[in-house]
Amino acid sequence: MQKRNHREFRDDEFWKRIPGFAQITREEFADHRWQLKNSLRKISQVATLLGNKVSEKFMKDLEEGQRKTPMNIRITPYIFSLINWDAPLDDPLRKQFLPVGSQFLEDHPFYLTDSLAEDTDSPVPLLTHRYPDKVLFLPTTICPVYCSYCTRSRLVGGTTESVEKETYGANEKKWEAVFEYLKKHKEIEDVVISGGDAFMLTPEQIKKIGHTLLNIEHIRRLRYATKGIAIFPQKILTDEEWFKAFLDVFHEGKKRGKSVFIHTHFSNSQEITLWTKLAMDRLFSEGVFVRNQAVLQAGVNDSPEEMIFLTRQLSYLNINPYYVYLHDMVPGCEHLRTSLELGENLEKTVRGATAGFNTPTFVCDLPGGGGKRHIASYEYYDKETGISLWRSPTTKPGKVFAYFDPLYTLSPLMQKRWRIPEERKWIIEEAEKKSGLSLTAVYE
Ligand SMILES: *Cc1c(COP(=O)(O)O)cnc(C)c1O
Ligand code: SF4
Repeated sequence: MQKRNHREFRDDEFWKRIPGFAQITREEFADHRWQLKNSLRKISQVATLLGNKVSEKFMKDLEEGQRKTPMNIRITPYIFSLINWDAPLDDPLRKQFLPVGSQFLEDHPFYLTDSLAEDTDSPVPLLTHRYPDKVLFLPTTICPVYCSYCTRSRLVGGTTESVEKETYGANEKKWEAVFEYLKKHKEIEDVVISGGDAFMLTPEQIKKIGHTLLNIEHIRRLRYATKGIAIFPQKILTDEEWFKAFLDVFHEGKKRGKSVFIHTHFSNSQEITLWTKLAMDRLFSEGVFVRNQAVLQAGVNDSPEEMIFLTRQLSYLNINPYYVYLHDMVPGCEHLRTSLELGENLEKTVRGATAGFNTPTFVCDLPGGGGKRHIASYEYYDKETGISLWRSPTTKPGKVFAYFDPLYTLSPLMQKRWRIPEERKWIIEEAEKKSGLSLTAVYE
C-alpha cells in the first residue's frame, strides 16, 4: 500500500465519480444549503445516485440493514461521495452510516438502549447531571447525519421500523426547566451542548443557549458538540448566519473570561479533505479550540496505522484528539464493537506517536452510568469471558460496574456459554468471586 501523508488533503472533484452528482459544480457542492437539501434520507436514493455502480445483491443487503438498525438514514452528499463505492462492504464510512444486514450480529445479552444510564441521571428532561461540576444538555434530537451506532439511538433521529422515539427536533419549551436547574446548581461550571447535533440548531438557538448559559455566573465553560466538521465542513465555510451566531457566543465568552469550545467527532481519516482544512483554518484564525471524540470501531479505526494517522492528521488540522471511546453497549452495534484488550493495545501503540497533548485518552464510558474511565483502569479483566469490572470512586462511590467484550471476539465454547442464561449467571458469579468485588447492577 502507498504510504499516506497526513499533511496532504484531497482537493479533487471526488463527488463527480457518483453518477447522480456528476453534473454538480464545485460551487454547488460547496453550498451548505445544497448539501443539506440533497442529503440522502432513503435507501432507494442510493440506487438512484449510483446507477449500476452497486449490485442488486448489495442493495438488498442495505434494505435488510434498514430493517434492523435503530437509526434512520441521513447522510450528506459530502460523506456519500467519499465512500469507496468500488468496495462498499469494507468501507469505513459506509459502515458508520449505511449498515448492511449481512454484517449485523446478534446483540450482546446485556446490551441496553440507554447504555450510559443518561435518563437515570437526569434531574430534568434533556439534562444529564452525573459528574459533580459538569452536565450534558440535549437541546435537539436531530443531526446532519445519522450514525447507525449512535449511543442515543433511543432519542435521536426520529422513529424507525425498530424503535419508537418521542420527539423530533429542538424542543425549546423544555429548555427553560434546564436553564432554571443550571441557575440553581452553583456547583456546575461546565455544560456540554449536544443532542443531536449543534449544526442543526438555528443561529437564534445557538445564541439563545449560549447567551443564557454565559449569563449564569458560575458557568465557566461551554462546549457545542457537532459531528458537522467531519461530515459537513461546508457549513463552517458558507453558512454565514450560523457561523456568526457561534462567533457571537464565542467572543462574548472571551469578554467574560469564559471558554466556548467545539467538540467534534471524526472516526476515520477518509472523512478528511481540503474542505476540512479550510473549515478548520477559519475556526482557528478566530481562535476557536476544537477537540475530537472518536468511537473505536471494528473495521473503521481499529488498526494502529489508521488510529495513528488519524491522530496525526487531526493534530495537523489544529483539532485536539481528546477521546477515543470503547464502543457503548447499545443495540445494533455488536459488529462494530471491539474487545477491551484491542482498545488497550491500541492505546499502547498510539501513545508516543506524537505530542502528549495530542494523544487521545482511551476511555470506557461505563454501562450503567459509572462515567468515563481510562481504558486500563479496570479492577479486573478476564479475557476469556470478556468481563471487566470497574470502579468509579468520585462519580459513583461504592459501586461496581461491568463492561462485556463482544461475543464474536470470544472462543466458540465461551460464546455458547454466554447464550445460555444459567451459564451467564455462573460466568458473572465467577468473575465476582475471582475479583473479590460484587457487581452493583444486576445482569440477568
Ligand atoms: C461525557 C460527559 C460529560 C463531559 O465529560 P468530559 O470527560 O469532561 O468530556 C458530561 N456529562 C456527561 C453525562 C457525559 O457523558
Ligand atoms: S452525530 Fe452524534 S448524536 Fe447524531 S447520530 Fe451521530 S453519534 Fe448520534
